[in-house]
Amino acid sequence: MIFGWWTKRRRHKLLSQPLPDQWREVIVDRLAVYPLLSAAEQQRVHDYVRVFIPEKNWEGCLGFELTEEVQVTIAAQVALLVLGFDDEYFDHVRSILVYPQTYVAPDSPHNHSGIVDERGSARDGEAWYRGPVILAWDEVLADVRAPEYGSNLVVHEFAHQLDMQNGSHADGVPPMTSRAQFERWSKVVTHEYEQLGQACRHRRETLLDCYGTTNMAEFFAVSSEVFFTLPVELREEHAELYDVLREYYRQDPARRAQGA
Ligand SMILES: [Zn+2]
Repeated sequence: MIFGWWTKRRRHKLLSQPLPDQWREVIVDRLAVYPLLSAAEQQRVHDYVRVFIPEKNWEGCLGFELTEEVQVTIAAQVALLVLGFDDEYFDHVRSILVYPQTYVAPDSPHNHSGIVDERGSARDGEAWYRGPVILAWDEVLADVRAPEYGSNLVVHEFAHQLDMQNGSHADGVPPMTSRAQFERWSKVVTHEYEQLGQACRHRRETLLDCYGTTNMAEFFAVSSEVFFTLPVELREEHAELYDVLREYYRQDPARRAQGA
């Protein structure tokens, strides 16, 4: 990715500042895999949050107090998601809006494409094409405190943003590096999507949440959540899906989890 010299200079300046101790404490507390990361990876997470937080416009909604703890918690999850990429700071996501809990938002403008994740009439989060990411803090916190449930709202919404990097329509296919990768991805993901549909119709319990059957975009977002929270289980039960995600995200969290 090519940056203007101004962006480079600004980021260099941000990285010349030390990571505040309180930020480090939040990262250690809120990023479950932190102890499993290599020293170099931990450093990448530190650097990432130091750039990501000041580059975004953060807004607390409905009176929510947006603290540094909130920012670092969210930024650390994003850092993990893109740990395998170079300088992926989601430049098109200018704002991050945080509600205290699941919320009922007014209808968004029709000329704005994006993804809305709803639970009943309430929303957990949203990801707009070249627009904001919106998150419900109670969901973010519940997920980071109990990764064993396989959910991570921040990973979910930013996976939608990755998906929309190659077009306004989130179709479950983020940018690929080659035709071969795309073909392998399509074959595996289509098959897994059908399998999940069948399992959910028969009310069979699976590692992947049935919300992933909504469409291919949700399947990618839900799969990404499990890839980062329960990687060993995903590799065991959905080896091919794990493999295409590993290739796409350029990291191997199952291997990391097993210390190999
Ligand atoms: Zn979604």
